[in-house]
Amino acid sequence: MLYKSTRSTEPASVSSAQAIKQGLADDGGLFVPEQIPTLTDSDLEALCGMSYPERAARILSLFLTDYTEEELLADCTEAYRAESFVGGAAPLVSVREPMRILELWHGPTAAFKDMALQIMPRLLSRALVKTGEERTALILVATSGDTGKAALEGYRDVPRVKIMVFYPMDGVSRVQKLQMATQTGKNVNVCAIHGNFDDAQNGVKTIFGDPEMAERLNEQGCFLSSANSINWGRLAPQIVYYVSAYCDLLNAGTCKPGAPFNVCVPTGNFGNIFAAYLAMRMGLPIRRLICASNSNHILTDFLRTGIYDRNREFHLTMSPSMDILISSNLERLLWLTAGSERTTAYMQALRTAGRYEVDGDVMADIRRTLVGYYATEEETAAAIRRTWEESRYLCDPHTAVAIHAAQCYLKETGDSLPMVVDSTASPYKFANNVYRAVTGQDPSSELEALGQLSAATGTPIPYPLAGLAGRKIRFTDQCEPEEMARKVLEYIG
Ligand SMILES: *Cc1c(COP(=O)(O)O)cnc(C)c1O
Repeated sequence: MLYKSTRSTEPASVSSAQAIKQGLADDGGLFVPEQIPTLTDSDLEALCGMSYPERAARILSLFLTDYTEEELLADCTEAYRAESFVGGAAPLVSVREPMRILELWHGPTAAFKDMALQIMPRLLSRALVKTGEERTALILVATSGDTGKAALEGYRDVPRVKIMVFYPMDGVSRVQKLQMATQTGKNVNVCAIHGNFDDAQNGVKTIFGDPEMAERLNEQGCFLSSANSINWGRLAPQIVYYVSAYCDLLNAGTCKPGAPFNVCVPTGNFGNIFAAYLAMRMGLPIRRLICASNSNHILTDFLRTGIYDRNREFHLTMSPSMDILISSNLERLLWLTAGSERTTAYMQALRTAGRYEVDGDVMADIRRTLVGYYATEEETAAAIRRTWEESRYLCDPHTAVAIHAAQCYLKETGDSLPMVVDSTASPYKFANNVYRAVTGQDPSSELEALGQLSAATGTPIPYPLAGLAGRKIRFTDQCEPEEMARKVLEYIG
């Protein structure tokens, strides 16, 4: 299986190892597979009898054909081991009929990014060997919180890889700062910058685009690589849990073989929901895919009008990982439905005018599967409280956005098919807002909110967040945005 850029009309020519190593295609497009493999009924039957790591290895082997089955099974077994994913990799939990919650946050940083970032570094490490690369990959990340920690934990002690994370000093929560400052591992580094997230991101982009920097890193035997969500190595592992969830529905007798179900995904960069769309195109019987947004509902508007318009106000919400106005992975959906020429034109219009309108045939195709709903801040808080009171299920604000959207859809359509709702973070990752929604009171402090939430609800703090305040601080470095390149060279040298 070869890969090509969403913006190229040339035949596919890039191996999956090369696509993972490179991240972004040379023309600025995203890597996509030349065809979508199919899952037959007998494939699904076989997958039903497997563990999560075995399911992951089997599904990845359909896309990453330059990796052997043995390599993939070894990597998946390591990545999704029970000591990392305490409580299971992607368990399905029943709440109110017809909803099931797919909990994707049992990994080492208590957010769903772990599902991809525990396996992708292993795939990158092998990609270096497969592509004859002799240098060390230096992963640079600018983070507003969750991605940085998940990337640090994923790349920690992975051979031939180093990672450095920059975060805005006053732009992340206390919990997130502590999670990063206490990171373990021999190949990791963390630095706070005096600036906001945009300053951190611009600094990283400048380093990536600086030929002199590339030269100096090269002299040190390094090259730059990125861990962000447009990398195919992050997307492919996300297909797995949709197939796995369906296997669990079949095993539980909730679905008969071939019977359809619906999926609802709290969406930011469109990576997670696009993985579900690909699973559907592989043959998984997903009837409707519900795209859930917060007050930054650019995707809801797009799905309703066919117009993607980023010229709008940006809102900071209690579901910050979805505070996004450019959903990069939407480009992959456009490629599948509109082809590369029209996709290139849409992306060009987005760059120059901040807006594009897709053709009627494309929208009709997209709407066959996708529908959009959004939750305001009040609706998000109400969903947290209602879900706790009615079902004794504690959810984080991102998950609450999805629960709200799923309930809007159910009310509007009366659809009774089983509905899998993605839960993308532990409620303890956002304990202060969850505590406030559930009890109507303010916690004493952000850190104390964890214990208070546990006491108020009788639910346990997950292991990655328990005892955080007592862990050894390893990283206290700070710098001005202009000094980021120097910090990188100091770390490498
Ligand atoms: C990253 C993230 C999302 C959004 O996922 P996308 O793949 O960017 O759409 C949702 N919830 C949480 C908690 C996240 O960390």
